[in-house]
Amino acid sequence: HSKIKYDSFRKNFYVEPAELADMIEEEVDDLRLDLDGIKIRGQDCPKPVQKWSQCGIPAQTLDVIQSLGYEKPTSIQAQAIPAVMSGRNVIGVAKTGSGKTIAFLLPMFRHIKDQRPLEPLEGPISLIMTPTRELAVQIHKECKPFLKALNLKAVCAYGGSPIKDQIADLKRGAEIIVCTPGRMIDLLAANSGRVTNLKRVTYVVLDEADRMFDMGFEPQVMKIIGNVRPDRQTVLFSATFPRQMEALARKILQRPVEIVVGARSVVAPEVNQIVEIRNDDDKFRRLLELLGDLYDKDEDARTLIFVDRQESADSLLRDLMRRGYPCMSIHGGKDQIDRDSTISDFKAGVVPVLVATSVAARGLDVKQLKLVVNYDSPNHMEDYVHRVGRTGRAGNTGTAVTFVTQEQGRYAVDISKALKLSGQKIPDDIQKLVDEFNEKVKSGKEKAHASGFGGKGLERLDQERDLAR
Ligand code: ADP
Ligand code: MG
Repeated sequence: HSKIKYDSFRKNFYVEPAELADMIEEEVDDLRLDLDGIKIRGQDCPKPVQKWSQCGIPAQTLDVIQSLGYEKPTSIQAQAIPAVMSGRNVIGVAKTGSGKTIAFLLPMFRHIKDQRPLEPLEGPISLIMTPTRELAVQIHKECKPFLKALNLKAVCAYGGSPIKDQIADLKRGAEIIVCTPGRMIDLLAANSGRVTNLKRVTYVVLDEADRMFDMGFEPQVMKIIGNVRPDRQTVLFSATFPRQMEALARKILQRPVEIVVGARSVVAPEVNQIVEIRNDDDKFRRLLELLGDLYDKDEDARTLIFVDRQESADSLLRDLMRRGYPCMSIHGGKDQIDRDSTISDFKAGVVPVLVATSVAARGLDVKQLKLVVNYDSPNHMEDYVHRVGRTGRAGNTGTAVTFVTQEQGRYAVDISKALKLSGQKIPDDIQKLVDEFNEKVKSGKEKAHASGFGGKGLERLDQERDLAR
């Protein structure tokens, strides 16, 4: 590379819109949570955008997006587009069908249009590699409406069809090549390298990277990439990001930002989460019903019941004892020795039911814990996740039942977020409560609620889980 004289080129086209500049860190964390739980690794990742107009995309491109009927960026697009537009090397991980193609195409068009036009015999500016013919065709097709509007050309090249047609296409000149790695190597070698070359390539995409490496394309990909100028911009998109790929990605992408959408469910799938609207006069009856059902089937089961105050813990304890349930309570009003002995009795099964406040039950790990009841609703998401996470541990299944009163729409917002982020359906009546609360926020009758579970909270949860493993 040191012997080749490369043109200088520009990568950073992104200017943060004023409305995003004003957002504080907690708001950004909350927004990422809302966007299907975006998680970031790497330094200085731009904030996610919420509208197309915030992406720094020129008008002609925006017109095409509008004509395609894409109302707003999908979650991966919302975060990846500003990152790629600012010239960063990006690893984007999001499930199939989440709109990854557009996430690398839009910044790519901006990148290409900034450069001088191709001269005859010059090779492409953008190189998109993908594992299969079908994917190459699909990406090529998705480019088409933009190509017309922007006066650009793209060639699609894959094995299993006559190479001479693709050679002819390339010779006519194209800013973009969408290809499978094997065919790209053939084309680079064709006619002693006179068909195409990588001299002008400054933007490289590895799409469906997990499949590409599964299919054994690593040597070809590395060979091609090794021949592209090192100061290129490289983006990698994938549905999954297995460990082995990490090492590989490190070789290909310098100082990347890693964006993962919805990879982790905040509550383990082993926990069946039930949320019910129950007013105070109905809670106790319902609790007895739940306990009755559980202990009919499983005498050895343990139940943990959460309340919000010490006094409630003690009064619920008395009510349960009267109904014949041996139980104990832990809360901040009891000394440590007392709490420790209660927990060991609970673990040993001396008492099957424990009434607790959140703080007192942090980190509690009891294998036979089958049922968590949030008798009083937790008031933020982090607390909810920690409480219900006391069950469903180490692969065991469990149930978490949460009571929300009609007045607790504010809490329902966070709980429904947790349900969504763990892939569980939100019951209709809870959704209604959430919608009503959000309406009140809009009309100024209520203040918005920060979930208290931003990036830091998620990181802590991850650390805790890693430790548990
Ligand atoms: P992935 O590569 O993540 O599997 P694709 O990029 O193939 O997903 O996109 C899936 C579908 O979503 C495509 O049909 C695409 O046209 C459509 N799509 C992409 N972005 C948007 C958007 N912002 N709004 C609506 N539909 C979109
Ligand atoms: Mg795709």
